[in-house]
Amino acid sequence: MFDRASVVTPGGVNSPVRAFRAVGGTPRFMVSGTGPYLTDADGREYVDLVCSWGPMILGHSHPEVIAAVQEAVSRGTSFGTPGEGEVALAEEIVARIAPVEQVRLVSSGTEATMSAIRLARGFTGRSKVVKFAGCYHGHVDALLAAAGSGLATFGLPDTPGVTGATARDTVVLPYNDLDAVRAAFAAHPGEIACVITEASPGNMGVVPPADGFNAGLKELCAANGALYISDEVMTGFRTSKAGWYGVDGVGPDLMTFGKVMGGGFPAAAFGGRADVMAHLAPAGPVYQAGTLSGNPVATAAGLAQLRLLDDAAYAKIDAVSAELRSLVGDAFTKEGVAHTVSSASNMFSVFFTDEPVRNYDDAKKQEAFRFTAFFHSMLEQGVYLPPSAFESWFVSTAHDERAVERIAAALPAAARAASEATA
Ligand code: PLP
Repeated sequence: MFDRASVVTPGGVNSPVRAFRAVGGTPRFMVSGTGPYLTDADGREYVDLVCSWGPMILGHSHPEVIAAVQEAVSRGTSFGTPGEGEVALAEEIVARIAPVEQVRLVSSGTEATMSAIRLARGFTGRSKVVKFAGCYHGHVDALLAAAGSGLATFGLPDTPGVTGATARDTVVLPYNDLDAVRAAFAAHPGEIACVITEASPGNMGVVPPADGFNAGLKELCAANGALYISDEVMTGFRTSKAGWYGVDGVGPDLMTFGKVMGGGFPAAAFGGRADVMAHLAPAGPVYQAGTLSGNPVATAAGLAQLRLLDDAAYAKIDAVSAELRSLVGDAFTKEGVAHTVSSASNMFSVFFTDEPVRNYDDAKKQEAFRFTAFFHSMLEQGVYLPPSAFESWFVSTAHDERAVERIAAALPAAARAASEATA
């Protein structure tokens, strides 16, 4: 299948992180998923710790989500008119997240961040955008500089195709460094439209914000007339019922969402202060649109998933994550592998270093070659991890004791492989 794919698709994949370029080998083609398990085209079963890079927080093929999708699909797949499902999904988001007074639905996280920075520029009449090295906000031209995720995985400095003019309006700063943000505002007075940050980064591995960092960003933006945009595409509806906002309570001007809110379908959103959102067309002058925005099948899936995510669901995900973090840490300690299990609520990843990791430069200092050996050993033993040392691992409510036992059984040999690996 990979040979066939490679003929008709660049690199054989439709999103670079799916390829195994960073770890070597051939990507597995998955044909079905049930609960915490994926089955590949050769009939092998894996415990899934990728969960479609975040969306599948209830596990695969959750019966109530599937039923909602089947019901929606039976009424048609797209109308190109307003519909009740998109209103209900917007109401659910607004009800969960206090700083979001209004929301606009789109089809991908990339669209959400792209539209949010356009709105910030339109609202403030300013051009410059501040972002942090190692934060990934989708493949928006202005936001690809020093991005994490696939660019971290492949060590790409930047990307051809983004013009100098676009890049000049992006100011890239080290993460967790408020002094750098202060200095940027001082260097570009009246020019910065917004500061965009992952609410808690998961695209350089998991690197949570230091105490007071997000609050400091909010304060500095307010003092300098810029908007504070919190990208919750990954953390939204995952790290708590109200995402990372539910963890640190710092209310941004604009927020972006995706992944979990689509229930495995292409649905995403951006939203925030009503006075800012009022600048969007057709209410205001900033144009933004989408043929499939608020698609009835995607909104039905997202709504069904969100309605199942109550306090008990998050308690379950948090508990499984804590259990796995402890098992993983113990396995590496036993083999004498220098490591840090880094977590933000139930998101976590392993850095192969025992030095503190507070930003992208720290993350890059890890012995990533150990991850390659660890990854392949886990894969051979039926555990599917993200194929990169710079990505978060994800669990779901479906990760039960049996799934955890299978991971636990695979860890000793994989930790040994990591300890024996050479650069
Ligand atoms: N923002 C963050 C924090 C993300 O993690 C991602 C994707 O991983 C995106 C934006 C882009 O979302 P999408 O892949 O749906 O375009």
